[in-house]
Amino acid sequence: MIEIKNLKKSFDNLEVLKSIDFHVDKGEVITLIGASGSGKSTLLRCINLLEIPDGGEILMEGKNILKGEIDVNQHRAHVGMVFQSFNLFDNKTVLENCTIGQIKVLKRDKKEAEKIALDFLDKVGMKEFAHAGSTQLSGGQKQRVAIARALCMDPKVLLFDEPTSALDPEMVGGILDVMKELAAEGMTMIVVTHEMQFAKDVSSRVVFMDKGVIVEEGTPDRIFNNPTEERTREFLGRYL
Ligand code: ADP
Ligand code: MG
Repeated sequence: MIEIKNLKKSFDNLEVLKSIDFHVDKGEVITLIGASGSGKSTLLRCINLLEIPDGGEILMEGKNILKGEIDVNQHRAHVGMVFQSFNLFDNKTVLENCTIGQIKVLKRDKKEAEKIALDFLDKVGMKEFAHAGSTQLSGGQKQRVAIARALCMDPKVLLFDEPTSALDPEMVGGILDVMKELAAEGMTMIVVTHEMQFAKDVSSRVVFMDKGVIVEEGTPDRIFNNPTEERTREFLGRYL
């Protein structure tokens, strides 16, 4: 589904991604873990073309998205992103948040877009809020809507950047449950998270990043029970 080769990204003199090599198979759930500042968000943002890498390749289904004529909006539609801070359109209703991309980017008519939106809002438990303003929602409700909005775009892969970090503790479990359900349905996902139990239970592979490099990756069992790198052990030790 995704193959990343020798990916590099700097901000001014700061080398944030140093030759990242990484792949994601269809249906995999990858959890990306690592300390703050290690480059996790930048890696997701490069995959979504919210940042333009300085070098390397990102192949999506074999096609290099950094070369040639790529429609960035189409690309972002198929690579859904769920942010820590929700990023809903505040001046729009829940339903409008879920239809605008479908209408503008996928060129669906309004009626079809609304039907699809209501189905996904139902899936995340937010159908009854369809006509509410998005500012009226709690954080957990906003994140449910953000997930529904991403699903409405027929994503090939969903990227989650610390989706539960801004939530009150009592809201976290519900969002993780929605993500578990998507994983069980075979959605390809890359999840940046500090929820180590989620990483253990749900991911097919855990990738540990530190200072712009992938230090180690493997099955949850191997990374959590038998890490080979000292940096991985040190990082995971903070969660014991
Ligand atoms: P993480 O998500 O692992 O916390 P980030 O990818 O957000 O890490 O950031 C990695 C490093 O890149 C940090 O030092 C951060 O300050 C820096 N950085 C991220 N985005 C920008 C930017 N737009 N401009 C300058 N520096 C940035
Ligand atoms: Mg981050």
